[in-house]
Amino acid sequence: MKFAKRLDAVPPYLFAELERKVSEAEKAGVDVISLGIGDPDLPTPPAVIDALAEAARDPRTHQYPTNHGTEEFRAAAADFYRDRFGVELDPRGELIPVLGGKEGVGHIALACLDPGDVCLAPDPGYPPYTSGPVFAGATVHYLPLREENGFLPDLDGAPDAKLLYLNYPNNPTGATAELDFFEHAIQVARERDLIVVHDNAYSEVAFDGYRPPSFLEAEGAKEVGVEIFSLSKGWNMTGWRTGLVAGNPEIVERYRQLKTNLDSGMSEAVQHAAAVALTAEREFPREVSEVYARRRDLLATGLREVGPEVNVPRATPYFWVAVPEGHTSASFTELLLEQASVLVSPGDSYGPNGAGYVRLSLTVPDSRLEEAVDRMTRALVIIQS
Ligand SMILES: *Cc1c(COP(=O)(O)O)cnc(C)c1O
Repeated sequence: MKFAKRLDAVPPYLFAELERKVSEAEKAGVDVISLGIGDPDLPTPPAVIDALAEAARDPRTHQYPTNHGTEEFRAAAADFYRDRFGVELDPRGELIPVLGGKEGVGHIALACLDPGDVCLAPDPGYPPYTSGPVFAGATVHYLPLREENGFLPDLDGAPDAKLLYLNYPNNPTGATAELDFFEHAIQVARERDLIVVHDNAYSEVAFDGYRPPSFLEAEGAKEVGVEIFSLSKGWNMTGWRTGLVAGNPEIVERYRQLKTNLDSGMSEAVQHAAAVALTAEREFPREVSEVYARRRDLLATGLREVGPEVNVPRATPYFWVAVPEGHTSASFTELLLEQASVLVSPGDSYGPNGAGYVRLSLTVPDSRLEEAVDRMTRALVIIQS
């Protein structure tokens, strides 16, 4: 059989070898705790589940959804953006449901990029910022996120391009950005005719009273770009595939055209449930954030006891930790797996500039996290002595 080359053009899946080691260890009876993936362990709010069940009994939801999104969903999303961010969105043309933020990230590249175009993507960054543009035939130019710059990219030094992905609060670094950074991105985008796609998966997962801004709050954002918002992390809905693209009406319309050709949109029963999340369950992400804040403090205390300065995140369920002297991301990941039976993500799986870091996720039950911290601190104390 002969296949398309585009799948060979995306970077190899760096977890493959690790997954093999984990399953080997598990087969040998070792209890491995995974802090590797960022998939919330807690359930979706009950009111959202009830809303889905109710909507699923309505035969109208058994038919094709409209590819614009239901009026209910669009109104709920526009109201949420107004109340949460002070952003006005026209529900008739400035937003559309997407089947999760990942679908939005990938397909926006197909809607906006041609073969030969250049796309700017943060490094380290979420892997679809590479695969989406590569599938569109575009070239990805990585913008390094360096610790000394607060993990913000140097936009002035970036080459000319057609599309720029940004993502704050950031995965994997846990870094946050303020409005002045977004305003600068908009200025650069205007000067260079650049489309800005801000991936906002984590604005609702934040701690100590901090409320991360939306890109669309920045003056002129709607002229140059869109924001992709996801319900996955804030409402524990990764399995539901719910999010939206909002902002520039021309981009939203191009995106809608693409989706009309590839999928037929989000089930209207799921749209109803998502609308309930964005209205009746608005406070839910704060409860989720409180759980992560407790876990964050637990992990921070544990890590500090044995070693390096850690950047304690203000948002996102992630710790981005520099590996000890003499280690690489891979060797430190292996060491934690072998000595502590704890799995973390090697930083370079998010791009070349992730080298020298590992990512730890807080998405495991408290008792498991406590156990993981215990095992890691014991292993690290032994190594240091
Ligand atoms: C989790 C995540 C998303 C959204 O995921 P979906 O489940 O597809 O909505 C988007 N971007 C980043 C950076 C993420 O970490």
